[in-house]
This record gives sequence, C-alpha cells and structure tokens, in this order.
Amino acid sequence: MPSATGWASSKPPLLRFLDRCHAQFATEDDGAVADYIPELGKADPAHFGISLATLDGHVYEVGDTKIPFTIQSISKPFVFALALDTLGAAKVESAIGVEPSGDPFNSIRLNAENHPFNPMVNAGAIACSGLIHEAKGDGAFEYIRQALGRFAGRELGVDEAVYASESATGDRNRAIGYLLRTNAVLKDRVDLVLSVYFRQCAVLVTARDIAVMAATLANRGVNPVTGEQVMTPYAISRTLSVMTSSGMYDYAGEWIYRVGIPAKSGVGGGILAALPARLGLGSYSPKLDKHGNSVRGIKVCEALSSHYDLHMLNRSDDARNSIIADYDMGRNPSRRSRRAHEQQILAAHRDEVRVIELVGTLSFSNVDYVSRQLASKPRPQFVIFDLRRVTSLTRAGARLVTEEFRELAAHRVTVVLSGVKRGSREWQIITEWTAGISNVRDFYLLDTAIEWAEDQIVYRYGGAIDFHDTTELSEQPLLAGLTPEELTDLASVGMVRHYKAGEKIISAGEAATSLYFLRSGAVHITLPDGVRLATLTAGMAFGEMALLESHRSADVTADMAATAFEIPLRDFDRFRKQHPRAGEAVMRNLAQLLADRLIVANTKVDLLTSY
Ligand code: GLN
Repeated sequence: MPSATGWASSKPPLLRFLDRCHAQFATEDDGAVADYIPELGKADPAHFGISLATLDGHVYEVGDTKIPFTIQSISKPFVFALALDTLGAAKVESAIGVEPSGDPFNSIRLNAENHPFNPMVNAGAIACSGLIHEAKGDGAFEYIRQALGRFAGRELGVDEAVYASESATGDRNRAIGYLLRTNAVLKDRVDLVLSVYFRQCAVLVTARDIAVMAATLANRGVNPVTGEQVMTPYAISRTLSVMTSSGMYDYAGEWIYRVGIPAKSGVGGGILAALPARLGLGSYSPKLDKHGNSVRGIKVCEALSSHYDLHMLNRSDDARNSIIADYDMGRNPSRRSRRAHEQQILAAHRDEVRVIELVGTLSFSNVDYVSRQLASKPRPQFVIFDLRRVTSLTRAGARLVTEEFRELAAHRVTVVLSGVKRGSREWQIITEWTAGISNVRDFYLLDTAIEWAEDQIVYRYGGAIDFHDTTELSEQPLLAGLTPEELTDLASVGMVRHYKAGEKIISAGEAATSLYFLRSGAVHITLPDGVRLATLTAGMAFGEMALLESHRSADVTADMAATAFEIPLRDFDRFRKQHPRAGEAVMRNLAQLLADRLIVANTKVDLLTSY
C-alpha cells in the first residue's frame, strides 16, 4: 500500500501533460482579443484555462477553467444538433448545406441554391436559430439554453452586456439575416431570429463546460458526467461531420489535415475539440488569430494531437483481443459432479460444446473475427458465448451477431448465451438481436450454461439422467473395492434420510460429525458467499471431508426431493477399526477423488491465466 503522501504526490500523466502545455503556451502572446463586439474587448488576455473530459466522466482542469466567457460560435454545432432532433433531418438538411465554404465565419455569401453553405458559418447558424424559432416561437432561446445546459451538465446563464453589445453592432449578421429571409430560408422576422442568435452566442460557459460538452459529442450524445443522452447519435455524428469539414472556417482543411480532431472555435476565446470515442477538450484564451481562432487554444490542440498521436484518421484496432478464452467443455467442465457413464459420454464428445468468452466492445471487426474463429474448427453442436465481460455492442457488431446466429441455426448449432441478467438493458438488446432465431438459449451463469449443454450431450448420446434413480452404496466411488459383506456392515450403521427440495442439509461452520451418500435426487454445495462448488446426483458422497476435517467448510442444500445414507463419523471409525483393509480402501478412494478435483481445478486456473 503506498503511503498517504505517496498517493498525494502521484499525478496522472495526462494532467502533467496539460500542466506542461499550460506553462509553455501561457507565454504565447500573439493575436488580438476580438473587439468588433465592443464588450468582448474587455476580456483579460492573460486568462488561460485548459480542461479535458474523458468518456468515463473524469474532468481534468488546469489554469483558469472556472472563468466564464461567452460561447459565441461554439453554440453553432449544438444548435445544429438540436435543430436536427427537433425538426427532423429532412427539414434541416433541405434548408442548410453541409459543404465547406472556405470563407470566414461572417461571410455574406450563400451557395448555388441560395442556402447557407453549412451550419458552422454565421449564415448557417442563423438559419438554424430561425428553424428553432419557427418551431418554438418566443420560447426558442430558452429551448436552446436548456439544451446547451444538458450538454454542459449544468444550467447556463447569459452575459446580458455582451448580448446588448452585439445587438447594437451586429449589422453584418443582420445583413446575413435579410439575405436568408429574401431567399425564404428564414420564415420569421429577422430581428426576432437574430435576437435568438445573439443571445445563444452570449451564453456563458467555462473551459470546463466546453470540455464536458465536447466529451458529450465524442460520446455519441451521452453526457459522460451526468449520464444523460442529450441528443440522438444521428444528430451527434452529423454535427461532428460538419465540425470536421467546416468547424474552423477558412482554416478547416488545414486543421483537419494537421490536427485531425473535429473542433469548433468561438470569438469569445473558446475552442472545443471532440475526439470521437476518446475525449473532449475545452480551452479558453481570448487572443485570436486572423481566422478568429484562439491562438493558445490551437496550440493546445496541436500539442495534444501530436504528443499522443490522436489524429482521428491515424487509427487501427486489434479485433483479436475480444476473445479472452476459447475452449471446449472438457477444459472447463461444469461444477456438476458426473457419474462414470456420464463422464465417459462427455469425454468422448468434449468438442461438441465450444465455449467462447468475450470481452469489451463487440464491434464489426471483433464479431467478424469471432465468426471466423468458429468456422476454423469442426462445427460443435453447442456454442456458448459468455458475455459477462462484454461492455458494449456497436450497431455493426449487433448486425453481424444476428447474421452469425442465423448461420449457426441453419447448421443446427444451438447458441447458448451467458453472463447477461434477464431484464437488464443488455438482455433487451440481445432479445432484439435474436428475435426470430429459435436456437438461442440464455443462462446467467456460465457454469449453468455449460452444465445445461453437458446434459444435452449426455441425453443425445443415450446417457439418460434420471434423478429418481435410487443407487446403492455399492455404486459409490468412495466405497469402491469394498466386499458385499463390508458394504452390508456399513449400511447397517447408516440411516436413510429424506430431504425436501430447498432443505439445508449441512451448514458451513458446523462440527462435521457424519458422512453422506446420496441415494436419489440432487444436492448442491455452495460456499457461504453463494459460489457453487458442485452439484451432486445419486451415487455420490458429500460431507466426506469430515474424514479429514473437523468442521464444515460449505453448505449443502437439496435441489429437489433427495434421499441419502447418513453415517455418523463415530460409527464409521468403529467400522474402520473392524475392517482395516476396507478403511484403507476408503481413504485411498478419497485421495483419488481429491486428486481428480485438483486436476479439474488446475485446468480452470490454467484457463484463467493463459489468456
Ligand atoms: N456572435 C459572433 C458573430 O456572429 C460569433 C462568431 C464567432 O464566434 N466566430 O459574429
């Protein structure tokens, strides 16, 4: 255990990296604070904050991450996503293009259809605000403010002074508004729409907010801090697309070429960068370059991308790491103790049950790899997929899974799923994939799934399992080698006990005072924490550890109506004295049973550690 001071002094390397960026770029003094909106000119050029939010909801912060500033153009992607989800993609996509314009943000130019080039330049953003105004009227701004707040994970306010300042001076945006209105892109009054747009630009955020908002974009619309699904994955992916092609205005091509992370800047000094499936970055530093992008913010993004090689088009993935274990049932039998004839059948058909334990995300490549692994060996009758370590499933992965299950069904292979709780969200998804496929079964525990498949194999190869069978002491492996007379003597000291289903026969911790030989039915042995050690059927002994230990280490419970011979330890000791040869045989048999269990346990440990 590290000492308390040991913990305190350790810093995650990513935080150290952000510290270094902050120290290094704080000395960067190029650029100028925007003052075409007079109120923005009051910003302190020294302020510098960097925040990075991870998709598991951790937020790193360095410098002035709590200083509020106006969001400005960083509102554009969010209002575009909101418009897509509120009005439907068809309506939004028919009013606003998605081609980069190569123009500055405030360009007064429309495309060949007299529509805005894209939603990241002012014309497109004003059109988005217009669409929301059409739908929500006077409530439009409040609707936008609430949505921005869900991305940030907190209620956001407005800088009234910046709003008033831009309203008073924003003639260029008014010009764009009238151009849109004369081309019927705006249906409502220009002054009303612009008041929504100017207000949305004056929403106050911090670098930390921007990081969380970015992480929500990077996380398919789920805010990683609040867990809320803020927008649909469709709206998010299309928003990231236009950020990629146009987020940095006339610097967009250069940006995506060099940095390779979808981003959006605002003249308030903020930059947002969202790397899908990885992270969200927010920075604040008010001095801007000639494109209107924060000078220090750009440096931070460049450094992050190059230091960790995060360019989004420079990626690979190893599909093979989704299989954590792949074996036949012989390598990991269920905890059900089997009688000799069952064991023989299972050993002869061990490769008829294949178990594949999966981990992590089931994506297109992962599932494809699994299907090829399955096809590379002779086809089994049962395939058990253990999903307990699977954390997510992509849509492509789900589609391939369904196709693979159909393929297996066509070849009469039964699919058994384990590791998914009934009624859970994962379980619902699985029910969807497997709808209409008849060969799928599911069990929560892998062990139960293996046991079920073993039973099927035993049945199929003629070894009926009859729980109502009554066995005699002569069939007990622990008593192998005893003469009929010895067995009769032993039986005479035993009592036949009857148990109801669910009845507890032995409790952990009690003194161990007798041995049991199961005559009929089934019992299971569990540790006090509920872990099943074994299920026994007629013909097997339990409580036999009393021969070696004075106290019970596990519980034994009847699975169904069961009967057993109980032989008190005292009487058994007396029997051993009278029949020393038989006593020795029993101890040898016990040693053999323990050795067999050890071999099984070792194979299981081996299986756990070899992947
Ligand atoms: N409100 C600003 C404008 O319309 C937003 C521009 C920006 O941040 N690039 O001029």
